Amino acid sequence: MVLERGRGSHVWDADENEYIDFMMSFGALIQGHAHPKLVEVVSQAIAEGSHFAAATSAEVEAAEHFRHMVPSAEVVRFANTGSEATMLALRLARAHTGRTKFLKFEGHYHGWYDPYLLNGHSHPPEQLGPPENPRKIPDSEGIPPATFRDVVLAPWNDMATLERIMREHGRELAALITEPIMANMGCIPPREGYLQRVRELTREHGVLLILDEVVTGFRYAPGGCQQYYGILPDISTFGKALGAGFPIGAVAGPRSILDRMRWGDNMVLHYGTFNGHRLTMKVVAANLDLLSQDGNAAYRKLHAIGDSAIAGLRDIFRRRKIKAVVQGFGPMFQIYFTERDAIHDYRDYCKYADTARYSRFVHSLLERGIYMTPSNGLHWIISTAHTEADVAALLQAADQSCAELA
Ligand code: PMP
Repeated sequence: MVLERGRGSHVWDADENEYIDFMMSFGALIQGHAHPKLVEVVSQAIAEGSHFAAATSAEVEAAEHFRHMVPSAEVVRFANTGSEATMLALRLARAHTGRTKFLKFEGHYHGWYDPYLLNGHSHPPEQLGPPENPRKIPDSEGIPPATFRDVVLAPWNDMATLERIMREHGRELAALITEPIMANMGCIPPREGYLQRVRELTREHGVLLILDEVVTGFRYAPGGCQQYYGILPDISTFGKALGAGFPIGAVAGPRSILDRMRWGDNMVLHYGTFNGHRLTMKVVAANLDLLSQDGNAAYRKLHAIGDSAIAGLRDIFRRRKIKAVVQGFGPMFQIYFTERDAIHDYRDYCKYADTARYSRFVHSLLERGIYMTPSNGLHWIISTAHTEADVAALLQAADQSCAELA
């Protein structure tokens, strides 16, 4: 598809076909397309000079808003993408702890930096190895195998196995990195108490907890999932919704860790011509201001619209007698065609999610004016621009597509 323009929750392709957009630029467009306030802010800012690669009041304003919303953000540092943020987070953790190895989970995606590119794609279950020692499967060619020697791989949402792996490797890990809600195998929420226990376990072993909130940040709550689930990470990373469609990444944490980037001996390096880009900073400040208005009304709306779409879809699958689960809550969810009651982790996804059926379903929705990616590994996104009318249109289309599917 070639998309030409968007407004609010709608997009138009090159042939002038109109769709309701539930993909929202992989979640970047928290305010939908061409939000009038953001258009105004950018139009004015670009006439004044887009970027100076120097400190600007826009960056300070963006950082103040950020710190106000995110509980763990004593300091925030801006980059241009989520990948840059997770890259920096790992370097900070290694410098801070003096350790090199880190733990990542199967099925989690943290950007395209070499050491993160393990087991981020779906594979046949028989290739995965035992859960307590998963087989490392690179997601890309061109990465020196030695890179992965520093990576300890673990299954997610399985506390007993993680405890065993941490007993064996905990003392050599600089960091454990996790998404709070698994968002790159669809949408898989943590089991009750899981994140809290991960927090305790990392503390017990002197391992820094990097919470990758690139997808969940500024989406589930003003302070992201760390606020929603009440956990305090050592370092957290952000992107996507923070920039409302502009390229952004951010690393947040305490001064004791982030001050390692201060100029001088033994510093942690973070360069980048476009870091703190003035246009982006203007958008970030305006976006966070919009999200905080009226006592965080935006979040009540994101959750209400999302929950209504989820409930409606569940109802349709039930009525049409189609074996499917809708996972997630509020602003983000995914549909899995499966005989199971739930998809709890990467291995469930590899074994039980009928991704081909999902793809057919989405293509059928596309013909009915609903824009979504056919990849089951992504997720449906609600923005502040979505309305109950959009949900009604989605449900009507889904009902017809289900009839076709059945
Ligand atoms: N972390 C997570 C959890 C992500 O989902 C993504 C992108 N999908 C990234 C990091 C990387 O962000 P970006 O694409 O902006 O580099």
